[in-house]
Amino acid sequence: MAVRNGVGTGLALSLHRGGKGVATLRPYKTPTLILTILLCLTMPVFAQMTIQQTLDAIGPGATMSWDPLLRTGAFNAGPDTAAFITGDPGEMSYILVNYRQVYSAPSPYLENNQLYFPTDFVSNLQRIFGRQNMVPGTIPQAQSQAPSQQVPGTTEGTNEEAFHISAIIIDPGHGGKDPGAKGKHSIEGKTVEAVEKNIVLEVSLRLEKLLKAAYPGKKILMTRRDDSFPSLEERVDIANNVPIAGNEAIIYISVHANASLNEKANGFEVWYLRSDYKRNLVNPDDYADRPELIPIMNDMLDAEFNNESDVIARSILSRYAEEMKDSMQNRGIKEEDWFVVRNSRMPAVLVELGFVTNQDDARIMTGEEGLNKMAKALYNGIGDFIKNFETQ
Ligand SMILES: [Zn+2]
Repeated sequence: MAVRNGVGTGLALSLHRGGKGVATLRPYKTPTLILTILLCLTMPVFAQMTIQQTLDAIGPGATMSWDPLLRTGAFNAGPDTAAFITGDPGEMSYILVNYRQVYSAPSPYLENNQLYFPTDFVSNLQRIFGRQNMVPGTIPQAQSQAPSQQVPGTTEGTNEEAFHISAIIIDPGHGGKDPGAKGKHSIEGKTVEAVEKNIVLEVSLRLEKLLKAAYPGKKILMTRRDDSFPSLEERVDIANNVPIAGNEAIIYISVHANASLNEKANGFEVWYLRSDYKRNLVNPDDYADRPELIPIMNDMLDAEFNNESDVIARSILSRYAEEMKDSMQNRGIKEEDWFVVRNSRMPAVLVELGFVTNQDDARIMTGEEGLNKMAKALYNGIGDFIKNFETQ
């Protein structure tokens, strides 16, 4: 895999965390007299703070990661993440909360290779992580996975429900007039046709059933449930139009099967977007009056979605390997810019279940036992990611 550009990489200072964080957010424009007095009482009066002082101000268990190349970083505590980008001292910048909501704050900056955080930035972090739970309210509904615009904000809110996956989109590849890859084999005296569109639908329907049973509170959506052919654009639209709240996220799993002219080629692999590919994740209409936000938001979201996609890919691959044992080869993680992955505004992966052109793979992929195993492997992999994501 190529170098990951993510705020999850780089420096990580780790302490243990105490109680559950309740993020209370207020826009930067409202440092009132009371707040100023409170701040003076609760933190030493510095114009700026170091990383350690900032972590101490957030509370026990807070961590920070920093990507020197992108000049972005993120503070984490409990289920909440507050990402930032550095600028010049005195400049205004943004805090991206849980990769979905934006707030203005004075910019953190680098001086002699040290990161400094203005006290107003830190007081915003304290509110985000619930140290100053001053303003009850609710976070308004966002219209899409792309962050809702709340800058300059009048929105005040409490993140009452933890950040969670609200929808899983399963995309069985091909369908209808498009059969996908095909292989024909003579297995135990019988001619077996392994057709990608049928295999991926069978596995996806089983996966849907498992996920629906395990997660009654989540939307489990299919881009097709029969032998129809939604276009690639339609599949992406289904994904990008799922309405979600500010503390919700969606993941996208595209299911395919492989083929090769070399009938010996075999095994499963999981793909996600090449990390040097920059997606357009932000809807420009949402930022009509703050266009300068678009590239910043895009970079931050891109880094985060790549990170999450990488974790989903690894979770699925490891469960697939566990399920298949020696019966199928693990071809690993791959990076490519597939249409459906490239155009979905969310973490997305593409699974190649096996090779329809390989006799051993085809036997597994056309048998009841094999189909169940593949669905179970995907289900377990997604389950591992959800657990990791929702309790981090
Ligand atoms: Zn395919």
